[in-house]
Amino acid sequence: MELSQLLDRMESASPEEKALIESAYLLAKEAHEGQKRNSGEDFIIHPLKVAYNLAELSMDIPTILAGILHDIIEDTDVSYDQLAEIFGEEVADLVEGVTKLTKIQYKTKEERKAENLRKMVIAMSKDIRVIIIKLNDRLHNMRTLEYMSEAKKKEKATETLEIYAPIANRLGMFRIKSELEDLALKHLDPEGYYDLREKITMNKATREAYIEKIVLQLRKKLEEAEVEYAIKGRPKHFYSIYKKMVYQHKSFEEIFDLLAIRVIVKTVKDCYGVLGIVHTLWKPLPGRFKDYIAMPKPNFYQSIHTTVIGPGGEIFEIQIRTEEMHYTAEYGIAAHWKYKEGLQGKNELGEKLTWVRQMLELQEDSDDSKEFMDSLKLDLFRNEVFVFTPNGDVINLPAGSTPIDFAYRVHTAVGDKCTGAIVDGRIVPLDYKLKNGNIIKILTSSNSNGPSRDWLKVAASSHAKNKIRQYFKRIGRDQNIIIGKDKIEREVKREGYRMTTLLKDEWMDRILKKQKFSKIDELYLAVGAGSGSITAIQVVRQLVQFHEEINQKSHPETNIQEASFEAPASRPRKQNPQGIRVKGVDNIKVRFSKCCNPVPGDEIVGYITRGRGVSVHRMDCPNLQDLSKDTRFIDVEWDHEEKASYAAQIQVVASDKAGLLSQITQVISEVDLFVSSLNAKTNKEGVATINMTIEIKDVKQLDKLMKRIKSLSEVIDVYRMTT
Ligand code: MN
Repeated sequence: MELSQLLDRMESASPEEKALIESAYLLAKEAHEGQKRNSGEDFIIHPLKVAYNLAELSMDIPTILAGILHDIIEDTDVSYDQLAEIFGEEVADLVEGVTKLTKIQYKTKEERKAENLRKMVIAMSKDIRVIIIKLNDRLHNMRTLEYMSEAKKKEKATETLEIYAPIANRLGMFRIKSELEDLALKHLDPEGYYDLREKITMNKATREAYIEKIVLQLRKKLEEAEVEYAIKGRPKHFYSIYKKMVYQHKSFEEIFDLLAIRVIVKTVKDCYGVLGIVHTLWKPLPGRFKDYIAMPKPNFYQSIHTTVIGPGGEIFEIQIRTEEMHYTAEYGIAAHWKYKEGLQGKNELGEKLTWVRQMLELQEDSDDSKEFMDSLKLDLFRNEVFVFTPNGDVINLPAGSTPIDFAYRVHTAVGDKCTGAIVDGRIVPLDYKLKNGNIIKILTSSNSNGPSRDWLKVAASSHAKNKIRQYFKRIGRDQNIIIGKDKIEREVKREGYRMTTLLKDEWMDRILKKQKFSKIDELYLAVGAGSGSITAIQVVRQLVQFHEEINQKSHPETNIQEASFEAPASRPRKQNPQGIRVKGVDNIKVRFSKCCNPVPGDEIVGYITRGRGVSVHRMDCPNLQDLSKDTRFIDVEWDHEEKASYAAQIQVVASDKAGLLSQITQVISEVDLFVSSLNAKTNKEGVATINMTIEIKDVKQLDKLMKRIKSLSEVIDVYRMTT
C-alpha cells in the first residue's frame, strides 16, 4: 500500500487537497515511525488502508485526512491541539472522536448491555463520520486479525459481532457489515466457517450453471423490452447462512435464498417493468414478494424482492433496484457522500435517497450540506448518557444525570449511603453531570446520614428521585412509630399505671387483632401519625379494661369485638335545628326527632309535642304509624337557605376484613363528609355491623355516600337508621 494508490483513488480531489493528504501522510508516517503491526509491517500501512477505504466510499477530504491520522492521538505524541493547528478543528475532532471510541471498554456478552454499548458508540460519535472511520478501522483490523494472539482474536471478533456489525447494519452499510460478520465468524468458529465455505464451493458449479440458464432467458426478454440493465450475482454472505443453519436449525440445502440474482436498472419505473417481465417468465412464490421501494427498511434499504419457481421447479430470488438503491444498499449512510455532489437542492436530494428524505422530513429546515451533517449527528440518543461501572458494565441514564442517579441505579443502598463519587479517577461533586463513557465509582459510608433533600434537585432520573422520596417516607414512618410508642407510654403514666402493668404483650396482641394490625409497629404508626383509626387514649383505655377484667375476674370473655369513637368536641353536631319552616307559625321551637334523624330533602312532617315544641319526623318514620290518627300533625318544610348540617345515622353490614373501617372512612372523606360517631361490632360469624352518625347537608349527599359504601366489595348492605 502506497500513498500514490490513495491519491490515485481520489480522482476528483484538487491538487491542494492532495497536498493536504500528503502532509497528513507524512505527519502520520513520522509520528508512527518505528511502530510495527503484528504482521511485521510498518504501522503506517494501517491508517493508509483505512484512508483508502474511505476514499473508495467517496468520503469527504476531512474524513480521509482523519482516516490517515486516526491513531495518532492514541498512539503517538501528537496532540489534539497540534492536529487542530495543522488540519483544523474539524479533522482534529474526527480523530479525537475515533480515539474516544477506541477507549471504550467492552466486557459484555449480555444482549441488553451489547445494545447499550452500541447506543453508546453512536452517542459518543457526535459526528456520523467518526463511526464510518471507526468501522473502516475495525474492518482493516479484522482483515489482519490472524496476526493476533488467540485470546485477542476471540475478543475482537466477539466485539465486532456484538457491537460494530450491528451498527453497520443500522446505518445500512451492508457491505461492511457482511465482511465484518464473516471475518468474525472465521475467528470465532473456524471449523464451521471452513466447512460452510467448502459446501458453498462444492455447490458452486451446479448453481452457476443453473443461474446462467435463468440469466439467459431473462436477458433475452429484457433486451426485447429495451430496458437498460445490469445483472449481478449476489455475493455470498457466510454469516447469514451460518446463522440460519445454527439458529433456525436449517440444513444447508434448505436455505434456498442461496440462489439469487440482482437486476440493476436506471429508474424506479424500470424496476416495476422488470418485475412484470420476471413474473411473466416464472411463477412467483406466494407470500415472498416484498416491495422495499414503496416501503424502505429503517436502514434505508430499497429494492424489490420476488421469489419465483424456475425451470425444473428450482426456487430462486430476484432482486430489482436502481443503481443508487444498489449503492445505498451496499454502503448505506455513506452513500450520502457519493451522491451529495451535483445535488441542487432539497427536492432532488429527497428523490435520490430515501433515507436522506427521511432525515430531511425530521429536519425540515436543514437545506444545506453543513446543516444536513449536523442533523446526522444522531440526536437519536440525545436524551441518554452511557456510563460504566468500575467493572465495565454499561449503565444508561437520562441526559443530565449525576453520580446520584448512577448510585441509585446500581443499588438503592448504594444511593442512600452515597457520600461522593470518583469519575474517571477524579473526585467530583455530586451534582457533576455525567458524560458518555465516564467510569464511575461511588463512595459510600455506613455512617452516612442518608440522602439529603437537595438531592431531589440534583437527580435527573425519576428512578433516583423516587428512591430518595421513598427514603424520606420511610424515615417519616420510623419517626411516627417512635412518636406513637411514646404517646402510648405517656398515656399509661398519665393514667397512673406502670408500663409493666399495662403494656403486656398478650393484651397488645389482642388490640392488634381487633384493629387488624399485623405488627405492633403498625399500631404505633397509626397512633403516631394521628391517622384517626386509633388513639393513644383508646389503646390505654382498652389496656386498663383488660387490667381490670383480670383483677375483678368478673367479666367473661366476649366474642364480640368492638370499636367505637366519639368525634372530638371541635366539630359538634349543630344542635339547634334551624332550617325548618313551620307552616303558619313563626318562632316556634323545633327539634328533630331522635328516632329517624330527618335531613334536608327527606319528606318530613311536624308533630306538636307537649311542652317541647314541634318535633320533626321523616314521613316514613315507623314511630309515626302509632300516631297516625293523631291530630297534632303540622306541615313543615325545609328552609333551603339554611346551611346547617344535620346528623344522619347509617348502619353498614359487611364481612369483616382487614382495612374495612379505613375503606369506609376513606369513602366518607372522599365525598367530603364528617363522621361524628362510629361504633363497630363483629359477630362470631365475622359479620361486622358499623353504626355511624354522619353530618350532612341534604339527603342527596347521604344517598351518594350510601351508594359509594355499598359498592365496596366487603359491604353487604347499608341502611338508613331509625331508633
Ligand atoms: Mn486503527
